[in-house]
Amino acid sequence: MNNHVTILEIDAKAVLHNLAYFKQKLNPTTKILAVVKAFGYGSESVEIAKIVQNEVDYFAVAYSNEGIVLREAGIKTPILVLHPQIQNLETIVEYHLEPNLYNFKIFDAFLKLADEKPLMNYPVHLKFNTGLNRLGFWHSDVPTIITELKKSNNVKVQSIFSHLAASEDVNEQEFTVGQINNFAYIVKQMYSHLGYEPMLHILNTSGIVNYSKAQFDMVRLGIGLYGFGNDPDETAQLKNTHNLKSIISQIHLIQPGETVGYNRAFVASQPTRSATIPIGHADGLSRRLGNKNGFVIINNQVAPIIGNVCMDMIMVDVTKIDCNEGDEVVIFNHQQHVEYIAHKCETIPYEILTGLSQRIKRLVRT
Ligand SMILES: *Cc1c(COP(=O)(O)O)cnc(C)c1O
Repeated sequence: MNNHVTILEIDAKAVLHNLAYFKQKLNPTTKILAVVKAFGYGSESVEIAKIVQNEVDYFAVAYSNEGIVLREAGIKTPILVLHPQIQNLETIVEYHLEPNLYNFKIFDAFLKLADEKPLMNYPVHLKFNTGLNRLGFWHSDVPTIITELKKSNNVKVQSIFSHLAASEDVNEQEFTVGQINNFAYIVKQMYSHLGYEPMLHILNTSGIVNYSKAQFDMVRLGIGLYGFGNDPDETAQLKNTHNLKSIISQIHLIQPGETVGYNRAFVASQPTRSATIPIGHADGLSRRLGNKNGFVIINNQVAPIIGNVCMDMIMVDVTKIDCNEGDEVVIFNHQQHVEYIAHKCETIPYEILTGLSQRIKRLVRT
């Protein structure tokens, strides 16, 4: 049993609201792939999958073990594994996961495995690099891919896809449109030689917002599902999905000249009430939030973090707040607070959400 009192509440209604919001931006026939990698962006992948499984066509995870967790929980929806390795291919087939084949090493290994089993028309996905230079075949690989595929009826290309490097950045519009055109050109060649037409997809969340014309057959919705759009206006249309809460463990009255926490970093200049909260940097609350860089909310009032963030605790200033030991503490419960934390930590909301450690208990609010 996980009795840690710090709880991450996942708001199921908010997740469904966000999904509906992006759906109304898309053509009714465009399929949706929900990205649930990294524990559903730091929430709980199985719970997210259960919430949206009847509303989406596909799930994506980064690694095969993330897909296995979904299958073991009874999720039947097709699952694309974005970043498989050769040593995972056996298990991928065992759990009926669908590998992204992004270079010849893994492509050849999968075709060999598919031949040995043998598999028939096993769904695989081909990724092309159009400028992110992270994963994917080159345009010049098309002829070899086609030759190999023509030799085998063990696999069937379910989709061809690529990933945008700067879909959120309007200053990079020319580059992004170039990526999309490059993708369309590669696809044309694949289609004309393959004899059938796999699904196509290139857009992530900010791609949906900025380049909806390039939605092709499917879009890959990640951060948007979890409440973050491309800009403040977009985010304002979305609902917060991750609510992080804790309680006050203890309150200390500190006299002027006394200090709080490690390195005696906070020095009281006046009588100060300090509340200790059971969440620390081991839970994903960065040390950069110490020394009044971050705050929590207690009884609707702002309580700054004083001194250094400890591994398992923070202390906050509640001198002016009417509160008691055992009262609820909101670490964050709206996107603007997450964005504030991200800003203070010189990062983006993605990292704040995915950095919430597994020690925190997860609860779904329906
Ligand atoms: C993580 C990921 C996504 C989701 O991106 P968001 O910006 O969170 O919507 C889409 N496609 C690929 C290939 C990814 O790795």
